[in-house]
Amino acid sequence: MSELLKAKLRYAGIAPSEEQLSKIKGILLEKFDVPDIDMELVQDTSIGGGFIVSCKNFEYDWSDAGRARQLRAELNNLSRKTGDRETGKIISMLSSKVENFDLAIGDREVGTVTWVGDGIANIDGIEHAFYGEIIEFEGGTKGMAQDIREDHIGCILFGNDTGIRQGTRAVRTYKEAGIPVGEAFIGRVIDALGTPIDGLGDIKESGYRPVEQPAPGIIERQSVNEPMETGILSIDTMFPIGRGQRELIIGDRQTGKTSIALDTIINQKGKNVICIYVAIGQKASTVAKIIQTLKKTGAMDYSIVVSSTASDMAPLQYIAPYSGTAMAEYFMHQGKDCLIVYDDLSKHAVAYRAISLLLERSPGREAYPGDVFYLHSRLLERSSKLSSELGGGSITALPIIETQAGDVSSYIPTNVISITDGQIFLESDLFFEGMRPAVNVGLSVSRVGSAAQTKAMKKAAGSIRVDLAQYREMAVFTQFSSDLDETTKNQLAHGNVLMELLKQPLEHPLAMHEQVIILVAVGAGRLDMIPVKKVRDYKERLLAYFETEQGDICEELSKSGDLSDQLKKKILEAVDAFNDSENKILKEELESGNH
Ligand code: ATP
Ligand code: MG
Repeated sequence: MSELLKAKLRYAGIAPSEEQLSKIKGILLEKFDVPDIDMELVQDTSIGGGFIVSCKNFEYDWSDAGRARQLRAELNNLSRKTGDRETGKIISMLSSKVENFDLAIGDREVGTVTWVGDGIANIDGIEHAFYGEIIEFEGGTKGMAQDIREDHIGCILFGNDTGIRQGTRAVRTYKEAGIPVGEAFIGRVIDALGTPIDGLGDIKESGYRPVEQPAPGIIERQSVNEPMETGILSIDTMFPIGRGQRELIIGDRQTGKTSIALDTIINQKGKNVICIYVAIGQKASTVAKIIQTLKKTGAMDYSIVVSSTASDMAPLQYIAPYSGTAMAEYFMHQGKDCLIVYDDLSKHAVAYRAISLLLERSPGREAYPGDVFYLHSRLLERSSKLSSELGGGSITALPIIETQAGDVSSYIPTNVISITDGQIFLESDLFFEGMRPAVNVGLSVSRVGSAAQTKAMKKAAGSIRVDLAQYREMAVFTQFSSDLDETTKNQLAHGNVLMELLKQPLEHPLAMHEQVIILVAVGAGRLDMIPVKKVRDYKERLLAYFETEQGDICEELSKSGDLSDQLKKKILEAVDAFNDSENKILKEELESGNH
């Protein structure tokens, strides 16, 4: 070893004595195996007391700040290990731990920033960081190691990069990215790192969870067996969703994608489901409107909003869905049911593309990096229904994807379609025709949900999908013909009524028993003679009649969840009674056949 090794010693108040210096030198000489060391002494009051020695890319910490950090970490570890909440025990354990606590010399790896910009920093000098490790920069900004190369590491930044410049020190923390979680977050709006942004003060967390977490394995799961009702007739009847399922909502812009997710959240009132809405790259005003809707309908009482708006940096948009999922996992492992909405994953993929290009990863199809499939698969795979031994909790995911001109075969849509257990396809044409929600019955599918559908719903829904498909075909076929036979006319009338029934205004979810009553009535053709324009009005009055006059039917339906032949008969009798008592005007119209 010919060249003299340089080291820098920072001290707070008093410079180290000769004896201390020689001891420190001894440690360094042994570690780096060199004959001598050139030690530079610098005063730095920020370390509180003691001193810190940096040599090559290592840092030895004898400072007060470093010791406090070690003690804190040790105590954190301890409380995580025990899980025992009895204060007395913890205090005695703590005191014995503190007595035996042996202060090790803190040894941290440090590097320097060589390049920074657009929420990315390259760091030179850190050789051992792991993927996803949190790196702390001078000034407190945190980042996450995303790209580990031979000569440098690429880091995405979670804070303002204005204080970071070439030469800024960056320190390894040996920790993975995590967010605070807990019951206190319910009803709150947080950013992608778990910091409250609703101005309602601090949130007391119950613990921390890593943002990235492996998905539950096969043994830890069970199949979907409980319904997650959306309250939207066209979805619950034809594309039922189960707790633990992943159902994609896909469609062009402004086709009602967010509305379906929001209505589903609103419908979870009183159903013991915790809802998490993750906004990714949305306009801040859109997010504000969504929060307003949730508050107005009382859904905020059981919801959490994780918001990363379009003005946030790409790294925050990238991390937001994982943070939301970490929050959901906290509840799932307590045996609770969660619903998580990712609005939307197209923008998530775009944020990830921006990061990847800045990190100089090679672009692939549509300029997305090669691992963009993994980006969404590792996210959605975490939604599951846990086995009964593990508490039976679940995460149901409703990812949203925006398509361009209805093209479901482009890169990101096909990826997410193949990851999820089905999709609800929304179509602009239907939306503009006034068919809202604009669900395309032919292209939508739910692959697992029927196992979770209530018996009553399954029986009542019967052939509705086939009827609709036949109607559509017939409607196109008979578009220009005038003299139709009676059966075709009836089929068209039935289809028209069905289509009209599937239209549903916003924020008006239907309970399971209401949906069943409508389906039974329409299935038996009891609504076919109602003029299309009056169907919506009729439906509302019919449901009101059942609610006030036929409470026992509603109760039996929602309690048993089954539709016996007897009950079906009872419903039809009640519908007939209602039809009889309908006002004269309607009757006259019916009799004159004025469709
Ligand atoms: P974006 O692509 O901008 O995110 P989106 O697909 O999420 O749009 P929404 O914001 O949910 O669409 O809805 C678009 C508009 O359509 C809104 O103004 C909403 O009020 C209206 N809308 C959605 N669903 C319905 C419905 N069932 N009945 C009436 N209006 C609806
Ligand atoms: Mg939207």
